[in-house]
Amino acid sequence: MARTPLIAGNWKMNLNHLEAIALVQKVAFALPEKYFAKVEVAVLPPFTDIRSVQTLVDGDKLLLKYGAQDISQHESGAYTGEVSGPMLAKLGCTYVVVGHSERREYHGETDELVNKKVRAALKNGLSPILCVGEQLDVREAGNHVEHCTTQLINGLKGLKADQINQVVVAYEPVWAIGTGKVATAADAQEVCAAIRAALAEKYGKEIADEVRVLYGGSVKSSNIGDLVGQPDVDGALVGGASLNGDEFAKLSAMA
Ligand code: PEP
Repeated sequence: MARTPLIAGNWKMNLNHLEAIALVQKVAFALPEKYFAKVEVAVLPPFTDIRSVQTLVDGDKLLLKYGAQDISQHESGAYTGEVSGPMLAKLGCTYVVVGHSERREYHGETDELVNKKVRAALKNGLSPILCVGEQLDVREAGNHVEHCTTQLINGLKGLKADQINQVVVAYEPVWAIGTGKVATAADAQEVCAAIRAALAEKYGKEIADEVRVLYGGSVKSSNIGDLVGQPDVDGALVGGASLNGDEFAKLSAMA
């Protein structure tokens, strides 16, 4: 089955709500409407920007999607500083990043917590972008495929087969994030194909063929073509290059 590619820009902790509006306008107006028939483009701003992005997208009927970079495992209550699924759904979010390596590393997020967040997203009608990826030492030891497929299966624990196609998986080798060291297209394909094979083994080929598997890690307009040219790479999760409107629009147009 044909999968619609997704290019998602993870802004991380950058841009205030005014800068967010300027960037979204630049990206949206650089991409012709007909383009969105074949590719989905999403921005993933900090929480504080989402309302402004929603207002702009709704007001100007932009075809861009948007989402958040994290979600609480809880629905509501005494969880100071957290933002829940119902709050993100109310803001019109389509996507939420779950298990980004920066959250796993700096906030101690385990596979178990990531799994709870995946479920919280789905319960609220949001598509989780479940990030998996190995550190350099794991790759050098040759254990990268097993590492990523284990993170994947743990992250999806307890889901029903009919929920799986709402999940987007992002293969993000940790050594490639923000370093300028992009994986080769063959490296990306190897792990993205293994992710799809692991999904097929657990949920069946038909479902696995519907799931979008992205690559993330130092993606730019100069390397996106080779990456999305791979049969199992269905787009990209883009960090640094998504903060430049011209560059993000350019690389989106090449997907
Ligand atoms: C990311 O943080 O998800 C990412 C892929 O970052 P960058 O593109 O900057 O490597």
